[in-house]
Amino acid sequence: MKVFNTLSRMKEEFVPLEPGKVKMYVCGPTVYNYIHIGNARPMIIFDTVRRYFEYKGYDVNYVSNFTDVDDKIINKANEEGVDSTVISERFIAECKKDMEGLNVKPATTHPQATREIPGMLDMISTLIEKGHAYVAEDGTVYFRTSSFRDYGKLSHKNLDELQSGFREIKVTGEEGKESAADFVLWKPKKEGEPYWESPWCQGRPGWHIECSVMAKRYLGDEIDIHAGGEDLIFPHHENEIAQSECANGKQFAKYWMHNGFLNIDNKKMSKSLNNFFTVREISEKYDLQVLRFFMLSAHYRSPLNFSADLMVASKNGLDRIRTAAARLKELEAKAAGETMTEAEESAAAQARELVAKFEAAMDDDFNTADAISAIFELVKLSNSTADGGSTRAYVTYVREILEKLCGVMGIITEVRTEVLDQEIEEMIQARQQARKDKNYALADEIRGKLSDMGIILEDTREGVKWKRA
Ligand code: AMP
Ligand code: ZN
Repeated sequence: MKVFNTLSRMKEEFVPLEPGKVKMYVCGPTVYNYIHIGNARPMIIFDTVRRYFEYKGYDVNYVSNFTDVDDKIINKANEEGVDSTVISERFIAECKKDMEGLNVKPATTHPQATREIPGMLDMISTLIEKGHAYVAEDGTVYFRTSSFRDYGKLSHKNLDELQSGFREIKVTGEEGKESAADFVLWKPKKEGEPYWESPWCQGRPGWHIECSVMAKRYLGDEIDIHAGGEDLIFPHHENEIAQSECANGKQFAKYWMHNGFLNIDNKKMSKSLNNFFTVREISEKYDLQVLRFFMLSAHYRSPLNFSADLMVASKNGLDRIRTAAARLKELEAKAAGETMTEAEESAAAQARELVAKFEAAMDDDFNTADAISAIFELVKLSNSTADGGSTRAYVTYVREILEKLCGVMGIITEVRTEVLDQEIEEMIQARQQARKDKNYALADEIRGKLSDMGIILEDTREGVKWKRA
């Protein structure tokens, strides 16, 4: 398996630190709002990477954090007049709902910055003891970038150039820095901000330290893969390397993977540019599986421009796969015969070749676009070789392969009905309420809507029952 490593800027053979295991850390969102579909790109991509490792038989320990202390969260909390945990907990819950809709598996662990403060205090103390960090007069702790020879190795930047570049930028409150390229590990509290006790001042952590600490706690000093969007290469990931390698004395991550941006009108989709769609907004227009399929139709390192046309193309592609899968299921229910015919044996061999093609694409730095092409070829093969005369052995064989490959992509071939069920239950409850309120017009209207959706209601002594027409 080849993985493009940002560190070497080359595709490298994937060799795990421990045979059969993958330790993977993916930087997660800052939770002050609904996630936008740009944030969904790394979630979908690295979930697919994880699924492929699992398909290959690896045991994957997948850690992804929620940044739950940050200026934007604090501002939002102050606007609403609530504690910042109210904001972060609300949007963590909403983010998890979106992840479920996108069929992104929950991480093995989803740590939260505010619950990892003791680990941060430990790591910062170690860095100070080793001379890699210093305390300024106001209690701010800075990382001393000049103490780490390898600083810049990920972003391929030179520290001298960085320092002269940074010299121009003055950040208020950071006057105590020894050098312009130094960065904050811990900073004093300000009025109206959450804070924690520390040996240096009452305050809160800088952004970068949380990931170094969480990766160490849940995965160890050395990890296989560290990932995130390409905007994180500098300074976030560069600073994580500096912190972890100086504190632990070991190489932090072996492979660094970064996804390209999701753009809109060829500009990065971001909250600051206000040119974003939330996943929630998209879910009102499309099945989120279509969004997932759209993201996987391009290589993860390429920029991807979001457009309604591409979403329509993705929906059509996904429908083709789903229709083929549904057809195979129907055929399977009626078919008999436990031994494939000779013609079927040869078609099954073709299907195996397509599996090999799929794997070759994924082995080549997770080329999901080519992997999806292999799935389409399988759909074509299935449409032309499986019919009412096929043996069950063959139909089952092809169906299982199709489902397995779609499973690696996180594509659910069955149109989900659970969400629909919940929607129906909610409508029925609304109708019951309308009847209680003697608002029979509304009750009838809801019944009519349900009937248009093909749902038949039956009022029984045990309550309302429903079935699909
Ligand atoms: P943030 O909440 O901004 O820290 O972002 C969470 C994750 O989403 C990080 O891995 C970012 O790199 C990634 N991300 C943010 N915006 C985009 C975008 N437009 N395209 C791709 N990834 C993005
Ligand atoms: Zn991070």
